Amino acid sequence: MTTSENLVLVINCGSSSIKYQLLEPQSGEVAASGLVERIGEDDSAVEHHCGRRVLERSGRIPDHRAGLQQVFELFDETGFDLAGAGLRAVGHRVVHGGEVFHEPTPVTDEVVATILALADLAPLHNPPNAIGIESVRELLPGVPQVAVFDTAFFFHLPAAAATYAIDRKVAAEYGIRRYGFHGTSHEYVSGRAAEFLGRDPKQLRQIIFHLGNGASASAVRGGRPIDTSMGLTPLEGLVMGTRPGDLDPGILGHLAHAGGFDVERIDELLNRESGLKGMAGVNDFRELRRLIDAGDENARLAYDVYVHRLRRYLGAYLVALGGVDVITFTAGVGENNPDVRADALAGLSAFGIEVDQELNTSEDRSARRISPPDAPVAVLVVPTNEELAIARAASRVVTSA
Ligand code: AMP
Repeated sequence: MTTSENLVLVINCGSSSIKYQLLEPQSGEVAASGLVERIGEDDSAVEHHCGRRVLERSGRIPDHRAGLQQVFELFDETGFDLAGAGLRAVGHRVVHGGEVFHEPTPVTDEVVATILALADLAPLHNPPNAIGIESVRELLPGVPQVAVFDTAFFFHLPAAAATYAIDRKVAAEYGIRRYGFHGTSHEYVSGRAAEFLGRDPKQLRQIIFHLGNGASASAVRGGRPIDTSMGLTPLEGLVMGTRPGDLDPGILGHLAHAGGFDVERIDELLNRESGLKGMAGVNDFRELRRLIDAGDENARLAYDVYVHRLRRYLGAYLVALGGVDVITFTAGVGENNPDVRADALAGLSAFGIEVDQELNTSEDRSARRISPPDAPVAVLVVPTNEELAIARAASRVVTSA
């Protein structure tokens, strides 16, 4: 039975947004959820879902603290007193755990200070994450808070995969290594894939493609990651909605010398004006598809670059793992776009990798197999659920405290 003592509030403070869910960690049943957008702008907006009710608010929200205050008021309006509910825990998504945090961590003053100290590595994300934690500590005194780090799953990557081939002293001084991101999703999805197949994760070699607006790949052996595509920051690896993924680092020096690009301009180019958006003018795959169907050549090329990069990582991870048992697609594009899945894996039957067209284009949205039943490699689509993974992690930490 769902009582408020079983519920966990999950909070994800982005650079200008707050996503939240109140849910029951065992069943995954969601009691309420919502989104605060465009924090710091004049047209901030809040959408709060509670049962069948949807409440909307608009008007300037100056900062994350004010956004959370407004969320708490909306809970009140729908008859749910968060402060009096005796929640089990609050779980916070924190983007960068650096070399410090490698598992879900109970929040203390020192933990918050360390998250802030790691802001150099994630300047857009760690500060709002810390503000979110501080604000909720004030709003819900006495409710245990747990920080769940996006980098944690990849903390123990093998040194050969985590190390950049630059001067060791420079790397050590500036904390330069592959950290990896989307770790909560990769961990959750690799666990769900094994569960779906009824297999022990320890026996499996898995490749996971988390393809959303941000995109990353991981190679997982025996339940532990051995490589991942994102690096010191979430810029490396696959082609994304607005980020380029892998680049010749010499391009940056060239832009500085030949074009007078400074660090801010390069940052803007790489974070907001590259990837599908940079190549085709749109970052949403549904719009990209419409452009391709209308004969737009830039859109076609952007799609081909996207798929080419996926196949490059597939090949690399196939070899790193010494073969593969399961390939899983997840997140917005991975779950919803059958063309990307089919094209990424086309022509690989010699490796036991096949996609069944009918299964691949089915309307089913639950975890499912899209390879023929007798194919040696299981190709799956598994919906990710980072909120549930964070709620379960927070609940676990509170139970064992
Ligand atoms: P995420 O970051 O996981 O929320 O994924 C967002 C991206 O998923 C969007 O920018 C779209 O490119 C893609 N996406 C979401 N829904 C669909 C859909 N029904 N069909 C194709 N692509 C989708």
